[in-house]
Amino acid sequence: MTSLETLTCPRCAKRIDAATNIEATAPQIGEGQPAPGAFCVCMYCGAVLCVTPEYTLRPVEAADLEDLSDVTRRQLLTAVMTFDPWRAKIEASRATSTR
Ligand SMILES: [Zn+2]
Repeated sequence: MTSLETLTCPRCAKRIDAATNIEATAPQIGEGQPAPGAFCVCMYCGAVLCVTPEYTLRPVEAADLEDLSDVTRRQLLTAVMTFDPWRAKIEASRATSTR
């Protein structure tokens, strides 16, 4: 996992300050730092995001996914699905602790 210049998720507004590269061919700046055009999955809300040329994050649109290889598309889906049970546990523990 690489520490990042802090980015903000446009969907949940959480600060994202680390990333793990799951695809060797993903665009990077230096060691594991995603480059503009790289896709990310927010671990907090599961949003699929893209690094902009201004180095912010924006939601991925259907047109962004058209040019991806099947392998990359599958990796993004796997990343989203991997964190779904984790998020569900966190949300369940928060609901329990606020009762
Ligand atoms: Zn998010």
